[in-house]
Amino acid sequence: MNDYIERVIQNAQKINNNQPEFIQALKEVLTSLEPIISSNDVYEKNAILERMTEPERIIMFRVPWVDDSGKIRINRGYRVQFSSLIGPYKGGLRFAPSVNLSVMKFLGFEQIFKNALTGLPIGGAKGGSDFDPKGKSDNEVMRFCQSFMTELYRHIGQDVDVPAGDIGVGAREIGYLFGQYKRIKNAYEGGVLTGKSVCYGGSLARTEATGYGLLFYMREMLKHHDITLQNKIVTVSGSGNVAIYAVEKAQNFGAKVVAMSDSNGCIYDENGIDLACIKEIKEVRRGRIKEYLNTHPKAKYFENNNDGVSPIWRIKTDIALPCATQNELSLEAAKILVDNGVIAVGEGANMPSTMEAIDYFHEHGVLFAPAKAANAGGVATSAIEMSQNSMRYYYTFEEVENKLEQIMINIFNECKKASDEAGLKDNYVAGANIAAFKKLAQAMLAQGIV
Ligand code: NDP
Repeated sequence: MNDYIERVIQNAQKINNNQPEFIQALKEVLTSLEPIISSNDVYEKNAILERMTEPERIIMFRVPWVDDSGKIRINRGYRVQFSSLIGPYKGGLRFAPSVNLSVMKFLGFEQIFKNALTGLPIGGAKGGSDFDPKGKSDNEVMRFCQSFMTELYRHIGQDVDVPAGDIGVGAREIGYLFGQYKRIKNAYEGGVLTGKSVCYGGSLARTEATGYGLLFYMREMLKHHDITLQNKIVTVSGSGNVAIYAVEKAQNFGAKVVAMSDSNGCIYDENGIDLACIKEIKEVRRGRIKEYLNTHPKAKYFENNNDGVSPIWRIKTDIALPCATQNELSLEAAKILVDNGVIAVGEGANMPSTMEAIDYFHEHGVLFAPAKAANAGGVATSAIEMSQNSMRYYYTFEEVENKLEQIMINIFNECKKASDEAGLKDNYVAGANIAAFKKLAQAMLAQGIV
């Protein structure tokens, strides 16, 4: 490995104790930058990697709220403002018990590169809380969101930092957060949050954007290998925002999606998933995926048994789309997928595959679409939402979707060009990292030591 990269990784490990997810993300990016870092000492001379791997600012705060029984609850809130190099900080908020500083920093770090790939003027950030919205009443979620925003509002703004949704933060939570922000600021600053409902400033097609974008990217990647999605068997982990709209677009492209999951287990329907039923369970009732069997008795349900392989990856498929959470696809799962003849893997979630799994896919000729490129459609459409808010104007669904499609085509082409130029044919992981890094490093050099 290049000396400079090795030193930066070693130092990052030393100063970021107990942050395994952050170190994993950092290693994945930095090791893939070898061809460009070795080609020019300008990066080392200007400490580009050291600067890029240290967040500009981290905010951590107490979030007190009262539950329905009158008990006082305390959660921890975070906002990691990682980089404002090319635009206001931008990235989602995650509410989940697994949230901690390491997870926030890995997501914020990934976001810088992803946002650069979109070609739009947005920096990188991530935030959230260890609050779990699951099982909470609407009023509890509202009180939590109001308390969270009562601290966060002083750190954000439509030209400063623009949060959005992520795991556990959907239209309901964004609505409560926006309402409290507007109340405190006594101003309608539409562009301060994205993922808003269309009735008060949201963009058409934002809900669909990440899942649709993933399929546009997948289609482009397959096209370069003379493969189409028509009649392909597809499995999609998760059944949240990203997963549902990935399934919708895959079905529109003629693929047959046979499995989806949640954190308890997965369903398999050999006739093809009935998406209307999944939407009813997940978007309307906030239920569990196994309820699918109530109306589809011929489908099968496999419970997670925590043996290191989610049951969904044991199902034979042509295309696997991990759309749930980080590190959900292990090396062992990758081996099973390869043995079962998988052609392509596309990451809808952030860092769902371990580094060992990605290496295994590359070694076995599986086409691999990395998260920071393949799921960038969500944040790209958030940027389109911000621009509509600034213009005080709305695009139609088709206008937004067409822009999204073009952005995803551009991202794929950039990844391909960068991987070809680095002599790493079809390595879109390296391609995405190198293409984004070049843009960011150029901006960093231009702005001086700040
Ligand atoms: P949601 O909260 O809408 O859905 C998350 C889904 O993943 C749920 O079905 C959830 O199941 C499942 N899940 C969570 N943890 C696990 C686990 N440990 N094992 C198996 N399944 C699990 O989130 P999103 O769809 O918005 O986000 C999913 C992923 O996509 C995340 O990695 C996120 O960072 C990423 N992403 C999201 C974007 C967006 O626009 N929303 C943009 C780019 C990336 P359960 O209901 O049981 O918890």
